Amino acid sequence: MVSFYPGPSRVHDEIPKWVKAAHRKGVMSMNHRSPEFIALSKKTVGLLKEKLDIPDDYTVLFTSSATECWEIIAQSLVHTTSVHFFNGSFGEKWFDYTHRIKQGATAVRFEIDRELKAEKLNANEGDILCITQNETSNGTQVPGHVLQQLRKKNPEPLIAVDVTSSMAGIQLDFNSADIWFASVQKCFGLPAGLGIMLCSPRAIQRAALLDEKDHYNSLSFMADMMEKWQTPNTPNVLGIYLLMRVLKEMEIISRTHKKITNRATSWWKFFKGARNLKLLIPSEGVRSHTVIAIVAQPEVITRIKLKASKKGFLLGEGYGDLRKTTIRIANFPALSDKEVKQLKGFLKDYR
Ligand SMILES: *Cc1c(COP(=O)(O)O)cnc(C)c1O
Repeated sequence: MVSFYPGPSRVHDEIPKWVKAAHRKGVMSMNHRSPEFIALSKKTVGLLKEKLDIPDDYTVLFTSSATECWEIIAQSLVHTTSVHFFNGSFGEKWFDYTHRIKQGATAVRFEIDRELKAEKLNANEGDILCITQNETSNGTQVPGHVLQQLRKKNPEPLIAVDVTSSMAGIQLDFNSADIWFASVQKCFGLPAGLGIMLCSPRAIQRAALLDEKDHYNSLSFMADMMEKWQTPNTPNVLGIYLLMRVLKEMEIISRTHKKITNRATSWWKFFKGARNLKLLIPSEGVRSHTVIAIVAQPEVITRIKLKASKKGFLLGEGYGDLRKTTIRIANFPALSDKEVKQLKGFLKDYR
């Protein structure tokens, strides 16, 4: 079965080989205070910065998931208010999780077929602005130039960006925001259980200023530990090892970006003028490159999912309110061109 689910998603073919190697090398029982772990952690962070083009002065932290990153931001970086801009379920969930921790969280919703208008946003009164760059639930994205404008218009607050389903898939301008996070079961093509969080020097300073130290995953505590390439708790060492292996093989992000955006455009063309299966997002400017969302009659959706699974394709269910009327197709780097071609061959008869 080939998984086109947008997370957890198809993993790289080499994973079984790397898991075996990890076992042979003692990675699975590696002590997280040992010199071996410190070397692994340092190497992984170095590769991540090199392959994804992350500024040198940004701090990389290992977490367990993107959800954990939502909570770390709420507890350690929000003094009183956070402003959440979203148009779908993941952005809303982030807002809900934050609101439970800090009641000053406010929500700003926008339409799925409209660009977030950065020049109209005056959000300087918030401590932190929260944006879901790639909304996995509906296949939209906030384009890079909007994030850059948002940064320009709002120099004071920190900006945090959820890139769970786009980091390692498309090129991101990390200088345009302070906090970026993702988990590895999407574009990295790895098994779940590891999150990655990037913090600008400003974000680290803010954490130190608020000095929140009530949790094992308080940001200033985590950042202090990372100065020695370590984490407060025992991390997912196998996950970090697999991340290191995948990064070693990975092309630089500008190349991956080209491949992914070309493949997205070819998917859009494929569905252009289709009778039954239509792209959910009419406006190209806000369409996600990594998650293709298709809308159809519920009966059509049910039939396609069933037939697809018989042919060996796992398609992504609709998410949240869109469960019955949409399917989602991952366009992640671990999927091969051959697999994409095969799926197109199958979908051709249903368009
Ligand atoms: C998948 C996803 C999450 C949640 O990731 P976890 O690793 O399950 O915490 C958060 N935000 C977005 C945009 C996602 O796609």
